[in-house]
Amino acid sequence: ATLPRVAVIGAGIGGLMAARTLADHGLDVRVFDKSRGVGGRMATRRGDGIPSFDHGAQYFTVRDDRFARYVRSWIASGKAASWMGRIVELRPGGEIVAEKRSQPRFVGLPAMNSIAKHLASDLDVTLGCRVAQLVREADAWDILDESGESRGQFDLVVTNCPPQQSAPLLQGHTELADVIAGVEMVPCWTLMIHCDGLDDLPFAGAFVNEGPLRWIARNDAKPGRAKSTPGHASSWVLHASEVWSAENLEADAEWVRDQMIHAFELMLGRKLGQVHHAVTHRWRYANTREALPQNCLWDPSAMLGACGDWCGGPRVEGAFLSGAAIAGAILRRFTVDRPAADS
Ligand code: FAD
Repeated sequence: ATLPRVAVIGAGIGGLMAARTLADHGLDVRVFDKSRGVGGRMATRRGDGIPSFDHGAQYFTVRDDRFARYVRSWIASGKAASWMGRIVELRPGGEIVAEKRSQPRFVGLPAMNSIAKHLASDLDVTLGCRVAQLVREADAWDILDESGESRGQFDLVVTNCPPQQSAPLLQGHTELADVIAGVEMVPCWTLMIHCDGLDDLPFAGAFVNEGPLRWIARNDAKPGRAKSTPGHASSWVLHASEVWSAENLEADAEWVRDQMIHAFELMLGRKLGQVHHAVTHRWRYANTREALPQNCLWDPSAMLGACGDWCGGPRVEGAFLSGAAIAGAILRRFTVDRPAADS
């Protein structure tokens, strides 16, 4: 029997882990993503003449032994590193109120999306393709893009998109759509800024518990990033709080930029020097409020599955394990179903 053709919609860490595992077991896998690059929210922004910024996930932590094994292999192959930077809790005026020591923190090397690129390295990935519809045709799923063009026929489909983007694709095809539709995601406005006058700040990352901001990170303090030299401009990523981001979700990006710069100055208790670059990014679906208890969703009768950080755990590790889980469910199904002569 020929092995199933699988479409994975979404090249986030979860979708790539699913695709990687299925491809490693010989399935015929194709990944589609609407973006220009892989990694989803494990994202890196680059531009001419400006430093790179990790504007989505800031770092990841490791709890699960299976994930730990992968992280060790990424470190060994130079795709990840532990981030030992000083992380504090900050109050307005630049007052450091606590040191934040938790379990070890890791980052992609030289950028957050390096791990996704590594996982995707020899996968068949189609970028710039927003999947708009799944159509059931005889025994296969036809994948249609936004212009209604068919992007191929597949025996089964796994969606890795956030719930608000996965549910409409699955609606009418499986009851999983209703389960997914109930998962809430919260937004996050992000500011990426490269400016003078901050190279002496005594921390690499700061949690903030008041005002519009929640997190401040010095991007160039992470391992493998181009370092700023003393007395020169440094690069920072700021995340606004869930509440502030939701209240200002539809606000003008330049207004948001100015508000976040103002909040940054209040938090530091000083004026920024010359700003060389400052842009915002709006994550409409940034974080899962409460992940589903299942670590993936799989409907074998419809041949549809779903994975992501909103199953199993609202962070990089959860997304990764969710991808591993959906691949495991699919492989079990095909191992069980395979005729004895094949085994
Ligand atoms: P995603 O990364 O969201 O991937 C889904 C993919 O689907 C995307 O690439 C998207 O382009 C694609 N897609 C969507 N719709 C379609 C469509 N119709 N057709 C084709 N493609 C589509 N986690 C941590 O562990 N530590 C942190 O410090 C941390 N900080 C964060 C800060 C921010 C601002 C954000 C946004 C997230 C943060 N996270 C953090 C969460 C972490 O980034 C996510 O848990 C994880 O990356 C999610 O991976 P995923 O595979 O589930 O989905």
